[in-house]
Amino acid sequence: MSTVEEKKNKTEVGSVFISNYPPYSVWTDDKGSELEQAFETPGDPEKPMGLYLHIPFCRKRCKFCYFKVYTDKNSREIQAYIDAVEKEIGMIARRPAVAGRKLKFLYVGGGTPSYISGRHLRGIMDHIKAALPWDDMEEVTFECEPGTLTEKKLEIIKEVGVTRLSLGVENFDDDILSENGRAHISTEVYKVHPWIKKQGFDQLNIDLISGMVGETWENWKANIEKAIDYDPDSITIYQMELPFNTVYSGRILNGEEGLPDFADWKVKREWHNYAMERLQEAGYAIASGYTMVKRDKKVSFGYRDHLWRGADLLALGCSAFGHIQGVHYQNQPSIVTYTQMVEEGRQPLRRAYVPTEEERLVREMILQMKLGYLYTAYFQEKYGVDILEKFQDQFAMHKENGMLDFGNGKVTLTRAGLLRVDSLLPAFYDAKYQNTRYT
Ligand code: SF4
Repeated sequence: MSTVEEKKNKTEVGSVFISNYPPYSVWTDDKGSELEQAFETPGDPEKPMGLYLHIPFCRKRCKFCYFKVYTDKNSREIQAYIDAVEKEIGMIARRPAVAGRKLKFLYVGGGTPSYISGRHLRGIMDHIKAALPWDDMEEVTFECEPGTLTEKKLEIIKEVGVTRLSLGVENFDDDILSENGRAHISTEVYKVHPWIKKQGFDQLNIDLISGMVGETWENWKANIEKAIDYDPDSITIYQMELPFNTVYSGRILNGEEGLPDFADWKVKREWHNYAMERLQEAGYAIASGYTMVKRDKKVSFGYRDHLWRGADLLALGCSAFGHIQGVHYQNQPSIVTYTQMVEEGRQPLRRAYVPTEEERLVREMILQMKLGYLYTAYFQEKYGVDILEKFQDQFAMHKENGMLDFGNGKVTLTRAGLLRVDSLLPAFYDAKYQNTRYT
């Protein structure tokens, strides 16, 4: 391997996973008037609209985590946050861009949504349902950490309308979970299993991570067998990375000695590929670069599909991201500022970005590529653009490198392309973002 290839193969500090475009680092806090105007303009009732609710609390900070989370909040502070969220949804629902529109999907993420009590969850969901029509709701996803669930809490999670339960298993080995700073242990994963099955959620997803510190081939293979035995409807596999604000990245950037070994990208892709092949044998099909779904069941993920086709997304809670009528935005990341602004009756908006038509096209195209395919007709119809012509150099380069193929109105990623899909996407960025930090 040449030095350049070795460097590309090494897991270094920085973001690889892409969830939006243009990069978050170019969103700014001087776009208040554009954002205000977007919220003040009556919305199109036909355009799909969803809600992302952020619960920023966790029992413990995982060493690879890059989300905005708090592990030190007492019950009074948590209550103040819940009160603020309940108040914020009322404010959002009254804005002309939102009023009268129906919610199609809800994603409760974090942090650890299952960290809050059943009583708090009921309170928030009652407020959401009172603020926005619920009769068009297609999917409610709720992220859970195994060690925070009880049988009673799961009953409430089902009762409030959750259809897609997403369980953060990450790994079935206790030593690996502990080394990586996870709060839960494997017995908790098994303890909650009958309770989850009893509730009969439409879908159970489990998350796994390829390349946690301490991972081995032997353990990874055992992990995949345990995942199959767990019998989820979908399995989402992420490849571990080291964005700037993780505990591990901080230690690397501080030049600390005695750091653990981080699996390189080649090994992580080999593990991921093994999982795809074994899961295909076991009755799962590839639904995206990350997700395997049961072949004999209709398993969809509306949040992803609506979002990747430009739906509006209301942000609820501190640091939540949203998109309203052509404007990307994010709420205040600090729980203190967030709560204070809501208490003062102000919408807790922080930064925004107004993408151009071309940026919206690129955003949808690169996000949809993560599914493993693109239909050119979609972009022709929506944007009047032949993507194969406009991005001919990029598609030709990826084809030459064996990452994808195209023809008959479709771009199809190869397995090699799908396993590193995020690293293929910056090639489609506008030149001014090519070397921009992602977050
Ligand atoms: S449970 Fe999830 S959100 Fe919480 S610290 Fe771990 S990775 Fe981050």
